[in-house]
Amino acid sequence: MTASLSSEFEYIRDNLKHIEEQIQNACNAAGRSREEVTLMAVTKTVPPERINAALACGLSCIGENRVQEFLEKRDELHLDGVQAHLIGHLQTNKVKRIVGQVDMIQSVDSEHLAHAVSEAALKTPQGCVDVLVEVNIGDEVSKSGVPAEDLQELLEKISGFKGIRVRGLMAIPPILPSEAEKRAIFSQMRKLFIDIKDKNVDNITMEILSMGMSMDYVEAIREGSTLVRIGSAIFGARDYTK
Ligand SMILES: *Cc1c(COP(=O)(O)O)cnc(C)c1O
Repeated sequence: MTASLSSEFEYIRDNLKHIEEQIQNACNAAGRSREEVTLMAVTKTVPPERINAALACGLSCIGENRVQEFLEKRDELHLDGVQAHLIGHLQTNKVKRIVGQVDMIQSVDSEHLAHAVSEAALKTPQGCVDVLVEVNIGDEVSKSGVPAEDLQELLEKISGFKGIRVRGLMAIPPILPSEAEKRAIFSQMRKLFIDIKDKNVDNITMEILSMGMSMDYVEAIREGSTLVRIGSAIFGARDYTK
């Protein structure tokens, strides 16, 4: 390793050590076991060698936002035993390129998209892909995510699609200033998650509640997140100029 790469490795390792402590503390405070929470490294804009440095620290899950960027970087990544998820907004015309290439698509938010993903997955050797349904919680301006009040109806519509397995929910709430406000939004998500679980919709399981990013993962875990998606707290501020 060159000097700069080894110092980058140390930087990422130290960040991960700090995040790991925070996750453990949040689990303790919530009376949850650490095993209930998956730490995903969000790798948009991060070059492959830095992603590999994070993977060398023992991470087992990465998330990319864009189909094209993931496909370009993938061959350089050390993904043995590592899950890769698509977490960004997915356009229908990119569906065929990504289905079969990732372990999960976290950003399904319409019947139209769910149908396209299902049809594409039926043509892959696996015949099926795991998905989460993205919920637009607490954020009227964002275009992604199904509104909470339409969630149940969407799940019922897509539950018959044979090429997808709905395994839970994902949300990107607005960044709110206070701990209490952050927790209130995450708590709404947990309630939705539990309500849906209790309804036992055919072919829909509620195992994964993907919420919490660099600014709010502690609050998300306190409120029941099972997967936190962390980018800048691991890799530093993103550089969009490259
Ligand atoms: C960028 C991104 C994240 C991570 O954001 P940070 O604030 O850097 O932790 C998580 N989820 C999604 C969907 C993202 O696009």
